[in-house]
Amino acid sequence: MKKIIMSILTAVIFSSCAVMTDEAHYEVSPELRVFVDRFYAEAESRGIYFDRDSVSIELRDNLQKTDLAYGVTYGRGSAYHLIFIDRQFALQQLNEFSAVDYLGDVVYDSAAFYTLEYVVFHECGHSFLNRGHVGDGHFSIMTGDGSYIGNFESIDADRQKLINELFDGH
Ligand SMILES: [Zn+2]
Repeated sequence: MKKIIMSILTAVIFSSCAVMTDEAHYEVSPELRVFVDRFYAEAESRGIYFDRDSVSIELRDNLQKTDLAYGVTYGRGSAYHLIFIDRQFALQQLNEFSAVDYLGDVVYDSAAFYTLEYVVFHECGHSFLNRGHVGDGHFSIMTGDGSYIGNFESIDADRQKLINELFDGH
């Protein structure tokens, strides 16, 4: 069974790469680019440089229903970075992040922005940093159930600690 899954994933990876006209394959859904760029910037500020090759980070419909998760990473620890983020969840966060209020003004809800960033950073932690899940007792983005999403959303100092732990705690 595992072999079948692996070969399906390999097929998915290679079929998506087959359409590329050159070696570099860097494909990130426009809605997710700001978060992926921020992940790269956090890495680079720590002297960690990831190739922008074999990267595919995309929105997928109904991931929550099929995988019971907001995000899924395939091929962890391999040279391929294939991440899916639930489209409905992502769009909901982005709509809340910049909504138009009853006066017609755009209002920004940074908590919604950071909720989506938390999920993207979690999946990038799997894919780029080869991190697995840690127990709830660890103050980390890498717990399996988003234990510290509230801290990340609303407390600047905690967000910084969690990002430090993401890069330094493995
Ligand atoms: Zn995870």
